[in-house]
Amino acid sequence: MTGVKFPELDQLERIIDQLGARAQVDVVTQIQYYDIEFPIYCISVGTTELDAPVLGFFGGVHGLEKIGSEVILSYLQTVAQLLDWDREFLNRLERMRLVFVPIVNPVGVYLGTRSNGNGVDLMRNSPAEGSGKRRLYSGHRISARLPWYRGNKVAMELEAQALCSVVERHLFNSHLSIALDLHSGFGVRDRLWFPYASKKTPFTFIAETLSLKERYDRCYPHHIYTIEPTCKEYVINGDLWDYLFDEFVEQFGSDRLFLPFTLEMGSWIWLRKNPMHLFLKHGLFHPILPHRQQRILRRHFMLFDFLQRSLLYSEQWTKLDQQQRQLNINKALRLWYE
Ligand SMILES: [Zn+2]
Repeated sequence: MTGVKFPELDQLERIIDQLGARAQVDVVTQIQYYDIEFPIYCISVGTTELDAPVLGFFGGVHGLEKIGSEVILSYLQTVAQLLDWDREFLNRLERMRLVFVPIVNPVGVYLGTRSNGNGVDLMRNSPAEGSGKRRLYSGHRISARLPWYRGNKVAMELEAQALCSVVERHLFNSHLSIALDLHSGFGVRDRLWFPYASKKTPFTFIAETLSLKERYDRCYPHHIYTIEPTCKEYVINGDLWDYLFDEFVEQFGSDRLFLPFTLEMGSWIWLRKNPMHLFLKHGLFHPILPHRQQRILRRHFMLFDFLQRSLLYSEQWTKLDQQQRQLNINKALRLWYE
């Protein structure tokens, strides 16, 4: 068995070397593709206290949308530098943990495909069933030759299992955690999506999500994100975050708080500026021009920082009294579900 390098994996392994003993590095699993083996790495920095607040970064679930992996790698590179000198950052990490799985679907990133090596769309692969009107892109079990194939019902794909095991170990064990799963390709705006993707039902932490959104709106009134439930745009089957979220609520109710966000980077704007890119392999999902790519690599760092500080100073948006909670729920229903 041989390991094959591709640029993103190569970069990740260089950062891992650079981090040395300052990070905990696990190979969650190895993915076999013909005679090649690809590792799925999980890197964590900060306190090892299980209960501490956690921010998790996940990228490359859809291999074609490798810009997600690249944004995380770029941020991880920054983190490695900050660890050298920034005492405030070090102090922050004594009280929280950052967890990174930059390349969830290494075969997909290597091949430049949305699906994994078995032709399965990992974001359609969980047992979560969508409700209401669905289309082919909602996920189907017809054939692996068609896009959006959900895989068989017997077991989730190894990559999906690896993602779930990291979330269960690092995020479920914490009293307060946020996941960010980076994708690209939908629309012209950057979107921050929260559950559900499978149904148009408000999820358990809608009041807290609204509080966090309003804090962000107040702090950064000119921010770039549309914050909304995924189901506002489409309804799908097999979403991994819906599945994990329901598992979490079943286990912990509202004793702990877990917010999974999908950061869907709107790539149509890249295309609008140069429609010829539509004909390149990565054109729809990846900024082709270097200046545009650089802009996207740094575009989200402010959000990453805001989320860390909001996890550390969470009292105001997580501990809502009865009245505030009801007020927020009513507001959220009007904003997102009418
Ligand atoms: Zn995607």
